[in-house]
Amino acid sequence: MSVVRYELPRPKVARIVLNRPERRNAQDTELLYALNDAFDRAAHDEDVAVIVLAAEGPHFSAGHDLREDEPFASLHDHDTVGPYCGFTRAGAEGLMAREEEIYLGFSERWRNIPKPTIAEVQGKVISGGLMLVWPCDLIVAAENAEFLDNVVAMGVNGVEFFNHPYEFGVRKAKELLFTSGTLTAREAERIGMVNRVVPLARLTEETLDLAARIAEQPPFALKLAKQSVNAAQDAQGRPDAIRTAFALHQLAHSHNMQVHGLVVEPDFMKRFTRG
Ligand code: ZN
Repeated sequence: MSVVRYELPRPKVARIVLNRPERRNAQDTELLYALNDAFDRAAHDEDVAVIVLAAEGPHFSAGHDLREDEPFASLHDHDTVGPYCGFTRAGAEGLMAREEEIYLGFSERWRNIPKPTIAEVQGKVISGGLMLVWPCDLIVAAENAEFLDNVVAMGVNGVEFFNHPYEFGVRKAKELLFTSGTLTAREAERIGMVNRVVPLARLTEETLDLAARIAEQPPFALKLAKQSVNAAQDAQGRPDAIRTAFALHQLAHSHNMQVHGLVVEPDFMKRFTRG
């Protein structure tokens, strides 16, 4: 059973489905590479105009899989996949290389896919889950959707794809980070992070209807419209800001490792492994 499904539910619409519901779609290395492969497949398919990212089960994603074997030291060696290497190296070098590729690198890559993408979201989206939702161009949320980044509670500045200020402005970004608070679907819509909120029972259909409507537009104009909006956002300094936040994120992991012998706060890990 694949951890990511690939469907063609409507003409010119691909639907990629996270398929690890028994782990609330927690992202391990295998899932992230499978997801990247699915995005590449949809991007390369000339018959696909719009890409939907959905998730099987009650929750969209519980974030990064902190229970993955040796999660914080060194993992599979995927040197051939991206521009980065050295996942298995000691110290901060290995962790930074891995997070550069599979967290920040993948999220930036998916944000820049030259076709419109829509996240179809239900249930909880926790921390790393935001790094799948935010790179999408549009977000359709079920009424029960909830969004939170609790990485500050782990002793780190926030998720690796530090897009918070661009999703809902600096005040809300600070409040949510400082409190490890939660955004409901309605509040996320009110502050501009979510495009529309629909009943859970209609989530897939409403998302596919929106995708089908967009898929009727000329594909090159869609690509240029997307690149124009992304360029406007990047002209505000987003690429530099996100690189700075990523560097500080690595500093926090390194600090925690030096002080606690773990890349996150041990108190958080105790709470996490209990719950
Ligand atoms: Zn990290």
